[in-house]
Amino acid sequence: MNRIPENLANVKERLAAAAERSGRTPDSIKLITVTKGRSVTEIQTALAAGATDIGENRVQEAQQKYEPIHSFLTASGSQMCEWHLVGHLQRNKVKPALEMFSLIHSVDSLRLLAEIARRAEVRKEQTDILIQINTTGEASKFGLDSKDVQDFVEKSLTYSGVRIVGLMTMGMLSSSPEVNRPAFASLRMLSDKIMAEEFPGITMQYLSMGMTNDFEVAIEEGANLVRIGRAIFESTV
Ligand SMILES: *Cc1c(COP(=O)(O)O)cnc(C)c1O
Repeated sequence: MNRIPENLANVKERLAAAAERSGRTPDSIKLITVTKGRSVTEIQTALAAGATDIGENRVQEAQQKYEPIHSFLTASGSQMCEWHLVGHLQRNKVKPALEMFSLIHSVDSLRLLAEIARRAEVRKEQTDILIQINTTGEASKFGLDSKDVQDFVEKSLTYSGVRIVGLMTMGMLSSSPEVNRPAFASLRMLSDKIMAEEFPGITMQYLSMGMTNDFEVAIEEGANLVRIGRAIFESTV
């Protein structure tokens, strides 16, 4: 656990090197520290070491951590962190999700989008979301099929409570990061294609891809949000 600051520094160095290889500056890529399954103490250590963005994959787990983390940051006079929902969202959890998360990475159906929009309108807000795409074709993975995205975006235009700001995908679990390069490249191409359509109000400013095993490859392929857990919290990776 006391390796967290060191691990975080190491991940940031690798991120910066990958950014430079892809002709970008390190600060154009946001590191999301994925804290699912980690204790409040571990998260506090990461925040004290400079983590700014927290990723959780379950609303209920995030709810348990939200208050203690908020109090910790207030007590230490630190800036608040941003909370990202990176895991699957059920429609009956949208209300609490909107109370915590500034970006939802995992929207993969129009019914979910409609519910987020409805709840956001009640809050007189616009919620930023990413569309999750299944780029690997694995049946076990959430996400839209690439071929359905155009249609999804067109239909989303009627919902004023949400703002689509990019795409998210998960690579395959593999020990070789190169395995996911084609999937990441395909997400980048899909993003370019949607951008070229110039849908009103839709930006493709974020590409959320890359985890512990493959974040450097993801950055080389254009990721600007990377979601990293194990490399920060575990000493063996
Ligand atoms: C757990 C998780 C991550 C982080 O994975 P690590 O391998 O621990 O870096 C990223 N994205 C999602 C959606 C996750 O569930």
